[in-house]
Order: sequence, then C-alpha cells, then structure tokens
Amino acid sequence: MESRLEKRVSNTGLRLTAQRRIIARAICLIEDHPSVDEIHRKALETNPNISIATVYRTLRLFEELGLLDKHEFNQSRARYEEATENHHDHLIDIETGKTIEFHDKEIEALQKEIANENGLRLIGHRMELYVRPLGS
Ligand SMILES: [Zn+2]
Repeated sequence: MESRLEKRVSNTGLRLTAQRRIIARAICLIEDHPSVDEIHRKALETNPNISIATVYRTLRLFEELGLLDKHEFNQSRARYEEATENHHDHLIDIETGKTIEFHDKEIEALQKEIANENGLRLIGHRMELYVRPLGS
C-alpha cells in the first residue's frame, strides 16, 4: 500500500522514482524521528543498492518541497519527520535520543503574550525541551 508520504510526493508533481518511493516508505515505517542513517538502513532492507548519498539528496528534496521537517535537536545529527499542519513541540531525551511530541495551549498562549508585551507579534517558534528519565 502506498504510504501517505508517497502520495504527498506524487501530489507535488515530482516523479516518484523507485528509490524515492523506497525512501518515503522507510521514513513512514520508522517510529519516532529518524536520522539519515536510520532511513538509509531501513531503505537497504528493500533495495541493498541505495547509497547514503541518494538518501541525503532525496531528503533534501523532500525538505525543499515542504514535505519533511528537519530537526537538529540539541545540535545533534539531523532527524526528520513528516511535515504536518499541526504545530507541536518536542521533548528530547538526551540519553536515548527519543523524542516526544507535545502541544500545550497555555505555553503557546504565553509565548504570544511575551511577544506582545514587548510590542511584537509572534510569527513562529520552535521549542525543544531536553530531558532525562526521572530518577536518572
Ligand atoms: Zn509550540
């Protein structure tokens, strides 16, 4: 079955080559926010000839088309996620690299207020909370 990302790639008018299809599918199959290496490993399961350079190139292309968001959490290696309309922020476990998405109405409102109090209009933000498991 075609994954959502594959459909979105086709909808942009970009040719969905076999390699692009495999990479799009790999991104959808991996839970959490995969790194380039993880996407490459997953893609290799389907086609052992896909090079890391192809993965990089394809991810950059998908990103330029607005289909993927790239994150550099805590200045670590890039991680990708499918771009969505719904704004969310991230909790990042600095030990495991696991990320949790969250959305908090009060935090969102507070950020607007802070901007307003400074005579400014908020046009966007990124919030990354670096965490460790409780008790560690
Ligand atoms: Zn937010």
